[in-house]
Parts: sequence; C-alpha cells; structure tokens
Amino acid sequence: MKDTLIKNLVPLSNFTSWRIGGLAEWFAEPKTIEEIEQLIEWANDKKVPVQSLGAGSNVLISDKGLQGLTICLKKLQTNKINDENGIITVLAGEPIPTIARRVAKIGISGLEWSAGIPGTIGGAVVMNAGAKQYCIADKLISAKVICLKTKKVFELNNKELSFGYRNSRLQHDKLIVLSAKLKLTPNKNPEKILKETYANITERLNTQPYHLPSCGSVFRNPEPLKAGALIENLGLKGTKVGGAEISKIHANFIVNTNKAKAKDIEELICLIQRKVQKKYGFLLFPEVKKLGFDEIH
Ligand SMILES: Cc1cc2nc3c(=O)[nH]c(=O)nc-3n(C[C@H](O)[C@H](O)[C@H](O)COP(=O)(O)OP(=O)(O)OC[C@H]3O[C@@H](n4cnc5c(N)ncnc54)[C@H](O)[C@@H]3O)c2cc1C
Repeated sequence: MKDTLIKNLVPLSNFTSWRIGGLAEWFAEPKTIEEIEQLIEWANDKKVPVQSLGAGSNVLISDKGLQGLTICLKKLQTNKINDENGIITVLAGEPIPTIARRVAKIGISGLEWSAGIPGTIGGAVVMNAGAKQYCIADKLISAKVICLKTKKVFELNNKELSFGYRNSRLQHDKLIVLSAKLKLTPNKNPEKILKETYANITERLNTQPYHLPSCGSVFRNPEPLKAGALIENLGLKGTKVGGAEISKIHANFIVNTNKAKAKDIEELICLIQRKVQKKYGFLLFPEVKKLGFDEIH
C-alpha cells in the first residue's frame, strides 16, 4: 500500500456539510476497491475501528473526532449507464446530483427528485435517501459491499437490504458499500426530465437554507406529521446555541452560522426533543448519524 494513502490527524470538518467534526486519528480517500481492501487489512492488523464516510452530508461528528481509520469514499467514482434498458451501475462515491443530471440529459427518468441531495450514491443507499414520495430503494436492484471483518466482497439485493423510511440494514452491519445497481426508465424526453429535475432543485433553494452549512433535515418525520412543522409551531425557528441555529427558513434544519461545534448542534437537538416531547408527548428521532460520541478517549 502507498504510504501516502493513509494520513494522520485530519480535520473532519473539511469532510462534512455541517463543516463540523474533530480530527480523524487516521484518514484515507481510496480511489479503487483494491485500495479499500488494503485499508481494511491495515486497520485489522492494527486492531483499530473503521468508519465509512461518504460526502458527510448526514453525519454529526463529535468535536473529539474519530478514533481509528476513517475511510472517505468520495473518490471512488465512475458509472456505467445502459441507455437501452436504463440499468446503471454506480461506484459508491459518485455524487447523487451528478448522476441525476447525467441520466436526465440522456432521457433516462427516475432520479428527478434526487438532484438536490448533496450526498454520494453509497450514502444514499445506506440512508435510503428520498424526497417527496420517492426514495432510492424504489430503484435499487442491488448493492455490492465489502465486509470489514473478512474483506469478502458480495452483492445484496433490494430485499436483503431491508429498506425502510431513511433506513437500511447497512446502518447496522459492518459493511462498506462499493457500488449500486439501479433500474431507471429509458427512452423518455430529456427536456421534460431536465425541466422536472431543475424545478425540484429550485423548489429546494426557495424553501431550504442551502446558503449555509447544514445536514439537511435533522429529524425523521413522525409520519404522517412533519418534524419541521412541529418545531415551527413551538416557535423555535431562529433559536441559537453557540454558532448553531434552528433555521429561520426551515425548522427541521439546524445551520452552522458561525463556527458551530458539534456540542452546539447536540444541545439544539436535545432542546427540540425536550420541547416536542413536552408539547406532543412523543420523541423526535434524529435522521442524522452521530459519529464518535460514545467512544472513550
Ligand atoms: C442541504 C441538504 C439537503 C438534504 N436533502 C435530503 C433529502 O431531501 N433527502 C434525504 O434523504 N437526505 C437529504 N440530505 C441528507 C444527505 O444528503 C443524505 O442522507 C445522503 O444520502 C447522505 O449521503 P452521504 O454520502 O453524505 O453520506 P454520509 O453523510 O457521509 O454518511 C451517512 C451514513 O452512511 C454511512 N456511509 C456513507 N457512505 C457509505 C458507504 N459507501 N458504505 C457504508 N456506509 C456508508 C456513514 O457511515 C453514515 O453512517 C440532505 C443534506 C443536505 C446537507
């Protein structure tokens, strides 16, 4: 393995959309599956834990940072698009917006809803990312994964991934997603698909605080209710802790307005949970994944 692949003490705030997070003890951005295999072997030899990261757009990383090896998959990119049958195979690090625009331009429909989601395909599969009535599970045939213990590479089909609302078995298993195979719909009108794709992006820009660092919606919706509406009804928009603020534009977003720390975000999350519990009698569950909070340092 190249010595330069693994770096020591890397600020994770540069790798999250919230611009928050302490240091990774060890950090790597592999470009190939072979490099990922070497990294897993290295971590297993050293007996250190491995943490996967995509675009960091749905994680809250502790101010204390992460022990062990953080593998950021963002550079694991390429895609194969079959414009006759609409089947696309995408490596985990491909940005969702890039792939959504690419298929739209060649008249393949099915990802119009996703172009404003700033994550990777790997992260989207793990989170079962979605918007409106759509989600990635609707289109996913299978995901290729590698086991962090055995380095075995294998495919899991849609059913085996146990998808639910913003959920999949990958959130609990010790696996890294290497690639995803999706079935989209070919031979449609590119102009119409692009129009819908850009309309969805415009709608987001008009209703969500895209100009400030965030992780999107912080809480899962307690369906059929909307977390944002519940928080707004409590008058919490604009509430600040340190450099973090409950967005004045969309109450389910917490934005980093001025060098916020993870502990500021955590405090706002707890405040919202307390107030919602008191008023409505149930707990809101975060959609965002908290990393590095229960490690002993
Ligand atoms: C402005 C904004 C708008 C958003 N809008 C939406 C929306 O409309 N709908 C929606 O669902 N989400 C939305 N999100 C949240 C986020 O973009 C999605 O959840 C996205 O799918 C996360 O992908 P990621 O690559 O950033 O994953 P990360 O945030 O890097 O990781 C999320 C989780 O997946 C794991 N993970 C990531 N990649 C891999 C991999 N290759 N293998 C194994 N585990 C992995 C991580 O360990 C972590 O537990 C939004 C975020 C922002 C900032």
